[in-house]
Order: sequence, then structure tokens, then C-alpha cells
Amino acid sequence: MKPVDEAAAEILAAFAPQPEERVPLLSALGRHLARDVVAQHDAPPFDNSAMDGYAVRAHETVGATAQTPINLRVEGESRAGGPTPAALIAAGAQRIFTGAAMPAGADAVVIQEDTRRVQDRIDVLEAIEVEGNVRKRGSDLRAGQPMLQRGARLGAGELGLLASQDLASAIVHRRPRVAILSTGDELRDIGEPERPGSIVNSNAYMLAAQVLEAGGEPWVLPPVPDKLEPATAAIRAGLRADVVVLIGGVSVGEYDVVRDALAAAGVTLDFWKIRMKPGKPVAFARAGEVPVLGLPGNPVSAWVTFELIVRPGLRRMLGDPHPQRARTTVRLASAIKRQPGRTEFARARLDGAVAYLFPRQGSGTILSTAQVDALVIIPAESEQLPEGSELSAILL
Ligand code: AMP
Ligand code: MG
Repeated sequence: MKPVDEAAAEILAAFAPQPEERVPLLSALGRHLARDVVAQHDAPPFDNSAMDGYAVRAHETVGATAQTPINLRVEGESRAGGPTPAALIAAGAQRIFTGAAMPAGADAVVIQEDTRRVQDRIDVLEAIEVEGNVRKRGSDLRAGQPMLQRGARLGAGELGLLASQDLASAIVHRRPRVAILSTGDELRDIGEPERPGSIVNSNAYMLAAQVLEAGGEPWVLPPVPDKLEPATAAIRAGLRADVVVLIGGVSVGEYDVVRDALAAAGVTLDFWKIRMKPGKPVAFARAGEVPVLGLPGNPVSAWVTFELIVRPGLRRMLGDPHPQRARTTVRLASAIKRQPGRTEFARARLDGAVAYLFPRQGSGTILSTAQVDALVIIPAESEQLPEGSELSAILL
């Protein structure tokens, strides 16, 4: 059995960044740049005022105070979006508003609050330094300057930045299409009539949601019974996707057909029993460029193995330079006693840094896949851990 870190690293290496595509800005939200982006224009595009006030020559305000105001004549106006303002008159000021172009000859803006207006003149009540309250052209970005690096995640701020540069689209990695194929004679869809021993194919919904959450495009195939031929045919169909996730049937029981079906579909299996709990049986194969993963059918195991093994791969396909979820150190709210041997990923709720493990950690307890804050990592060799022990946890 492989240690979980080793298995996860080997599986991650099988996922390559997807080819790039150009998408409209809003479709790029949450995705990662496939190429560096350089500024197209200077930002700001022209010298403009940061405040409402009066454009002046700074040296003409030297010594101005409330007690010793300097009186200037006001002529002209510059407003945001208005016509190009006239040049500043000699020994004078020009009315200006936030975002408006600086008139030629002016080098600073006295804010409105530091002036007293009397008809067409102002008293300047405080001196202003050169470039005071002026946003200089190119002070933020110069045309040609690197602006965003390849791999950068495009959040709202990044999209705003691209838009400010007149860019209507971004080059990102294509979303991976993930075939989701459930196996099991017992499976029925929501609302389908119950048969003896049947259960709802809840994993298809759960995993499709996990794929979406990871940034992929789920492609849910109809579930197949535990029979070699239909399973083989479905796997062949699924191989048109970028990734194939099979659910159930990877164990060692007589009705676990996935391994044989993969072989029949010509996919060479690299079968791993991973030393992890939940989720020991995980099948992994490569069909050319397409990673194929067989996850255990137990909902909890499927959920956890997807999080640990599939999600980082999808993130890498999307060009995320940090495909792993964030980790943090937590303290156990109560002591643990367990069988050593496998690394355990215990579902927990967090209150600050204190982790409350769900009392029922069995892989059949579907209730505990809801409202999980973190997976607390219990090292394989741990047997007893007292209350307050510090452990690493994966934040969900
Ligand atoms: P298996 O991995 O096929 O041995 O399945 C292990 C357990 O998970 C069994 O109790 C199955 O009924 C259940 N199971 C398998 N596939 C699914 C699925 N798609 N949705 C919900 N439960 C499943
Ligand atoms: Mg089964």
C-alpha cells in the first residue's frame, strides 16, 4: 500500500495544464491566466485631479495659511469627461473636479476645503506641494509594463484591471471535462421507483458538484450495472473527456468490475491501495493523456478521495500554481484513540482553531459529508492523541 502523500503526488503528476482558450472577461472569473499580460495603456491615461478643488501652480501657494491666505483669480473649469480644459491663466486658479484632466500649466490641486470662494476669486488657506492631489499619467501602470503573471487567479479585482486596460477577454486554460461514471446494480436516480436493495445514485450529484466547485465541467454518464460489457462500453465513451472518474466497483468483491472493464477498454491500470482512511481502494490509470480514477463507492470515501486526489489534479489542469487546498493547524477538542496504520482524514467542524471531529467517522455515514469545515489529518502511526493535540487540517 502506498503512503497517501506519495500516491497523491504521483497522481497529480498525471494531470497537465489544459490547452489555452480566449474567453470573455466574465467567463474568466475564478480561472487562471495562461499567459502574462502587459499593460496596453498608461494608467491613469492623463494627468488628472484626485480631489474636487482648484488647479494651481504650487509655487503660487507657498506660505498660504488661514491667517495669511493667498488670493487667486479663478478662470475656467475642468470636469471629468468634459472638454480639454484651457491652459491655466497666470497668477490664477482653475475650478477642477475629481478625475478631470489637469489644465496645462497647473501642477497641483488645492482641495475645496482649503479655499474660500468669493465670486471669481479664491483665498487659498493652505499651501500645496508640487503634484499634490494630482494623479500623474502612468503613475499606476506604464504601457508595456508587466501587469499580471501567468498563473494569476482572476478575481473581481483582476477582471477590473483587465477591463481598465480595454481588454475584453483573457487567455486561460480550458476547463477540464470530467466524465463521471457510477457503477452498481443497486443504483437508481432520484425519484425513480425503488427496487429491493436499491439506493439513490447520490454520488453522481455530489461528484458533479465537486467537479464544478473545482472549476471543471462535469459530464455525468448514465450509471452502469456491475457487468463487464456495459461497464467497458461506458468507460470507452467516457474516454472522450479530459478526465474519467469512476465510482464504485474498484474493490476486490466478485461484482467489482471496474478493474476488468478498464483492462477490456485497453486502459492499463496502475492499481493502488492507498494507505488512507477513508478510501483505501483507489484505482488509477492513464489512457494516453486522460487520467482515469476509480473511487470507492461509499459516499464519504468518494467525497474524501475526490478532495485529496482528484481536485488538485483539476486545479493543475486549470493552471492553478497552488492546486492544493490551504492547510492550518488545529487543536483537538477531545482525545482520540485509534488503530494505527493508515493516514486518516477525519471530518471536523472548526470553532476557531479547535477541531470537533464528527463522532461517527465510518465511511457509510453520509450525514457527515454535510457541514464539514475541515479534514483533520491524523498521521498513520498515531494511536492515542490527547485533547488539545495539534494537527494539520485541510480547510474546505
Ligand atoms: P462499492 O465501492 O461499489 O463496493 O460500493 C460501496 C458502497 O457504496 C456500497 O454500499 C454502495 O451501495 C455504495 N455506492 C456505490 N456507488 C454509489 C453511488 N454512486 N452513490 C451512492 N452510493 C454508492
Ligand atoms: Mg458496487
